[in-house]
Amino acid sequence: MSQALTWAFVAALAAAVATRLWLARRQMRHVRAHRDAVPPAFAASIALPAHQKAADYTVAKVRLQMAEIVLDALVLLILTLGGLLQWLAGQWQRVFPLESLWHGSGLIVSVFALTAAIGLPATLYRIFGIEERFGFNKMTLKLFVVDALKGMALAAALGVPLLVAVLWLMGTAGDWWWLYVWALLVGFSLFMQLIIPSFIMPWFNKFSPLQDPVLVERVERLLARCGFRSRGLYVMDGSKRSAHGNAFFAGVGAAKRIVLFDTLVLRLSPAEVEAVLAHELGHYKLHHVRKNLAFSFAFTLASLFILGLLVGQPWFYEGLGVQSKSLPIALLLFILVSPAFSFFLHPLGTLLSRKHEFEADAYATHHAAAGDLEHALVKLYQDNATTVTPDPLHSAFYDSHPPAAMRIARLKTL
Ligand SMILES: [Zn+2]
Repeated sequence: MSQALTWAFVAALAAAVATRLWLARRQMRHVRAHRDAVPPAFAASIALPAHQKAADYTVAKVRLQMAEIVLDALVLLILTLGGLLQWLAGQWQRVFPLESLWHGSGLIVSVFALTAAIGLPATLYRIFGIEERFGFNKMTLKLFVVDALKGMALAAALGVPLLVAVLWLMGTAGDWWWLYVWALLVGFSLFMQLIIPSFIMPWFNKFSPLQDPVLVERVERLLARCGFRSRGLYVMDGSKRSAHGNAFFAGVGAAKRIVLFDTLVLRLSPAEVEAVLAHELGHYKLHHVRKNLAFSFAFTLASLFILGLLVGQPWFYEGLGVQSKSLPIALLLFILVSPAFSFFLHPLGTLLSRKHEFEADAYATHHAAAGDLEHALVKLYQDNATTVTPDPLHSAFYDSHPPAAMRIARLKTL
C-alpha cells in the first residue's frame, strides 16, 4: 500500500507540473504571437507601445513562474521521498520526544521557515527585478526587510499559537479531533476578518479619509443608491510599494470600510472611480465574500475529514518517505502533498470567481454608467500592464477575472 501511494504521489505531482509548464508555454507563445498588433476592440484605447509592454511584462512573469514550478516540485520531492523531513524529525527528536506538542510545532515551523527561505530569491527577483524593470516597483530594500520582520512577528504572535492549539486538539480531542480543529479554524478565520482592517492593515499602510469633495459626494450618493452603510471612506498609500492600482472593501458587519488605492484615485476620473466602486459594492451586495468563505470552510472540513482517516495508516507516512509517525507529521505531510492531488480542482475555483466578476459587473451597470466602468477597466489593464491577449486555456485555468475582451464585450450588452 505504501508503494502504491508513492507512485500515486509521483504521478500526481508529475501531471500537475507538466500541466503547469505546458500552460505557461502556451501563455508565452500566445502573448508573443499577438505582441505586434493591438486587438481591434482595444485599438482606440490602448497604444501599441503599452500593448507591447504588457506582453513583455506577462512573458517575464511567466518565465519566473516556470522556474518556481520546477523548484517547488524538487523541494517537495527532497522533503518527502528524499528523506529531508525524516532527517529533520530525527534532529528535533534529540530535543523533544516524538509524540510531544513541541516536537510537532518545532518541526512544522522549521519546515515552513525552510520553504520560505528557499522561495525568497524568486520573491526578491519578482519585486526588484521584474517589477522594477517595468516601472511598477516603489519598494525599497529597507521597506522589504521591515515588511518581512512585521510578517514574521505576526506569524509568531498569531500563527504559532494557532498551530499549537491545532496540534493540542489533534492529540487530546479523541476520534473527532478533525471536527474540533475545523471549528477552531473557522473561528480563527472569522476573528481575522474582524481584526485585519482595523489592527493589521494599518501596521503596513497608512489610511487617510478620502479628501476630494467631488469624489466624496459622488461616492456617498452611490452608497445611498445601493443602500450601503460603511464605517468610512479611506485612501490607502498603495504607492508606497507598487504603482498597481486597486479598490476594495475590508472587514465585515459594522467594521466594514471602503478603501481606494491612492494610485487609483490619481488615475481615474471621479465617474470611473464610482463605477469601480459600484462593482466592488456588487461583490458585497451579492454575498460573494460570504459565499467564498463558506466554500473555503467546506473545503477545509473535507480535507480535515480525509486527514482524520489517514493519520492512523502507517502506509500514509511510509509511502511519503517518513518512518517516524506522529499526528503533527501527518498534518505536515498532508499540507505539503495534498496540493499535488487537488491541483486539477483549480479551474472550478476560477470558474466560480469569474461568475462572481460578471455578476458584480452587471450590478455595477445598474448603479453606475457601464461606459465609465469600461473606460476604468481599460485604464487599469493598461496601467497594470495586464495583457488583453491571454491564452484562453491558461486564462480559464488560473485567472480569477475574465479576460478583458470577454468582460468588455459583456458590458456592452448590458
Ligand atoms: Zn471584482
